[in-house]
Amino acid sequence: MIQKKYIIHGKYTFEDMVRDVKSQPMYASASDRVLLMFESENDTEQIAAHLAFLKENLSDVKVFGMTLLGKLKSDMILAEQTTFCSLMLFETSRVQVVGADTADVPAKTAAADFLNRVDRRDLKGILFLTGIKSTQPSDYLEIVAEELPHTPIFGAQAGSKKLNSDQFYVFCGAKIYQDGAVAAAFNGEDLEIETDQVLGWKPLGREHQVTKASENGLVETIDKKPAMALYEKYLGLKPDANFYANNAAFPLLEQTGNMMSARIPFDFNEQGAIRFFTPMPEGARVSLSYSRRGMLLEHAFNCAKWIASFKPEAMILITCLNRRLLLGNADSDLELSYFTQVAPQAIWGYGGSEILQTGRNGGILNSSIVAVAFREGAPKAGPPVRVNGDKLEDESDQPIELSDRLVTFLEQTTAELHEVIDKLQVIASHDQLTGLANRRLLSETTNGLIEREKAGEAFSALMYDVDYFKKVNDTFGHKAGDAILCEITEVVKKQIRRSDMLGRWGGEEFVCLFQNASLTDATYIAERVRWAVDQHRFAHVGHITISIGVVTRHEGETEEAMFIRLDRMLYQAKNGGRNRVVTEAGKVITSES
Ligand code: GH3
Ligand code: MG
Ligand code: MG
Repeated sequence: MIQKKYIIHGKYTFEDMVRDVKSQPMYASASDRVLLMFESENDTEQIAAHLAFLKENLSDVKVFGMTLLGKLKSDMILAEQTTFCSLMLFETSRVQVVGADTADVPAKTAAADFLNRVDRRDLKGILFLTGIKSTQPSDYLEIVAEELPHTPIFGAQAGSKKLNSDQFYVFCGAKIYQDGAVAAAFNGEDLEIETDQVLGWKPLGREHQVTKASENGLVETIDKKPAMALYEKYLGLKPDANFYANNAAFPLLEQTGNMMSARIPFDFNEQGAIRFFTPMPEGARVSLSYSRRGMLLEHAFNCAKWIASFKPEAMILITCLNRRLLLGNADSDLELSYFTQVAPQAIWGYGGSEILQTGRNGGILNSSIVAVAFREGAPKAGPPVRVNGDKLEDESDQPIELSDRLVTFLEQTTAELHEVIDKLQVIASHDQLTGLANRRLLSETTNGLIEREKAGEAFSALMYDVDYFKKVNDTFGHKAGDAILCEITEVVKKQIRRSDMLGRWGGEEFVCLFQNASLTDATYIAERVRWAVDQHRFAHVGHITISIGVVTRHEGETEEAMFIRLDRMLYQAKNGGRNRVVTEAGKVITSES
């Protein structure tokens, strides 16, 4: 296959392009021909004129495309009054383009219609361009991805010159949709498509949870507070005209399958809700993130190097203006050049969002570069492409920027804090002497098990107390007593499963939680535990015994009520003569029984 890029601007016209397209040696023999078009202006009359001209003059080429995003800041250098076209001529592959007006039919219906029509034989990838607004594009994406879980879907949400306007368009053939979807399916036995996402943002600070959100991309609360409060608290941002430009460098990161997705709110309302291009599910765990020049460039460089090894014959890049916002014009061009060195005729454009989804992984993305590489047949012979001469850039003689040094400082401090927090968490939930879970963790775990209780899954527990332990302390000293508690712990641990939680309830009383175990199961283990301690010869002390109570949780019972009953069983075991197991079913097991 071949790809050719045309930039229609100023003196270079559509007539010039058509002449060149027709003069391509492969043009006549191509198995299929497509022209992907990115329009910098949201001028529907002008786009309609372009499409009409192409229909008239390149009737055997499948034309489709979208409008691009405009400047976010006045000093941003972006093409204006320009149409970017990418011609792709295939040797053996086929392309099927399906457009849908989602102002007329719901996105779900449009997706089902596409699935009905799409040829699935040797289907290698789907380019998806969308301007769907009323119904969400993720509906379309989800339905197609679920039905075709192994087919990569890549593309973009169309952009608009003004961020908050409705003027993002997608088009195919002669049709322009303000609210629509265009999907192009690429089929071919010889066709290979590789996709990748460049991100380069790292989580910053702790995780937060989306607590109230609606289907249209509005997130009302995060951590049960107005979503805007997150930005006010951590970034000192105000809900004003600069909100987007100020928060864009700190996207919210969300794990979507095996891919990390960055999300940037572009608007807010008076109630402190924030708005995203795509819906964010309630319950989503997100963290603010940051990046810096070097990190972005390094990710792009590595991705381009990887794609170079694929030896693509064509490439489509969808990227985010957010990167240009952070990198500036020169470095943004530099990172794109890593890819155009690999595929000199690659087309790239800034959409409202990038799209990359395969099955449950990925989805609608921000802040990234989605790179899609095409090839027909085996890689062609020839020397490997060296991205930037295989060197990222030598910055060693440059002073490090102040912001970079501050970020490094923040990164290290955060890492240290996390280390301390992790240690404190272990200390706060474990017993110092035995290293077992403490009462707090036992309670928490019990409550967790109760909350997640599944139908038909029993949950049981035992509690034991050392018999005549005061005497051990009095005879051998407190230190020896401590050692005995540890020794008993080791003996008991050998009798339980790894998934059972043994913990110290307090003093010389211990509890073991058995998930998914009946009273009979727990009783069996309890007897093994009692027997093992009874048999064990303790250093210096010799013979020690324990008494055990066993219960299973009753439906609807609280953690507190369950432990009260457990304590009562243990009391009965003591009263009954010690060194025995007493269960709530009235069963008593001793050495004699
Ligand atoms: P029984 O349980 O059989 O009724 O008699 P007991 O002698 O064991 O009585 P009780 O359970 O009331 O006594 C518990 C003793 O355990 C009292 C306390 O000093 C001792 N103890 C509690 N925690 C520790 C500890 O961490 N180390 C040591 N050495 N002793 C402890
Ligand atoms: Mg005791
Ligand atoms: Mg006791």
